[in-house]
Amino acid sequence: MPEGDTVYRAARSLSEALAGSVVTRFDIRVPGSATADLRGETVHEVVSRGKHLLHRIGEHTLHSHLKMEGEWHVYGRAEKWRKPAFTARAIVGNDVWDAVGFELASVEVLPTREEDRVVGHLGPDPLAEDWDPAVAARLLAADPRPVHVALLDQRTVAGFGNEYANEVLFVRGILPTRPATEVDTVALIDLGARMLRTNRDRTPRTFTGDARPGRTTWVYGRARRPCRRCGAAIREGSLGARATAERNVFWCPNCQR
Ligand SMILES: [Zn+2]
Repeated sequence: MPEGDTVYRAARSLSEALAGSVVTRFDIRVPGSATADLRGETVHEVVSRGKHLLHRIGEHTLHSHLKMEGEWHVYGRAEKWRKPAFTARAIVGNDVWDAVGFELASVEVLPTREEDRVVGHLGPDPLAEDWDPAVAARLLAADPRPVHVALLDQRTVAGFGNEYANEVLFVRGILPTRPATEVDTVALIDLGARMLRTNRDRTPRTFTGDARPGRTTWVYGRARRPCRRCGAAIREGSLGARATAERNVFWCPNCQR
């Protein structure tokens, strides 16, 4: 699943392919922005904000969100796409490269000065230059909901997805159902931010430090398997802010309190 680290890397490779060049192909295949045409404009940069991507082109921004299935790929002109063309939602090309966004959850072209409308609600982003852990820790500490739910709220801290929430809580020894108000949120945010920053520059994502298949997580995806610390069987349940937003939650009944 795309989390902040994946989106950050996507922005970096899109920027490498597009920044500083003139758009020669611009094709948005979603209702609402399908008529937008930024051909002839210059791409300034592509940046991530939490799990949102912003292509800044001329005076405009192409905003997209990857949600569960979305991906951006960069192709040479003659290169065959690795995903079906009918799943493409946006194409931004220059003389050399085509950046193609597949199965994006939202795509919108808006004036750059109005970016706040789509990302202004986001909390501090651990991968941004202006990252402020104190603000994130304070927002989290004020949330009476289960800490797992609170950590996934992008208004509090932007970039953590379900895998991060599960893993960070295990390493800190905190049950996912504990109210965030009862947790040392400074230490929790500090650890989560360090994990995101470490994983930003490497694949595959790992939380244990071991990148071998099947060894990258402590609890995520390991229901009924033995805890790597104490041997107890890892439990699985679900938690969410709403019934429609439930996520799989994994924990060790022994190591997490
Ligand atoms: Zn354990």
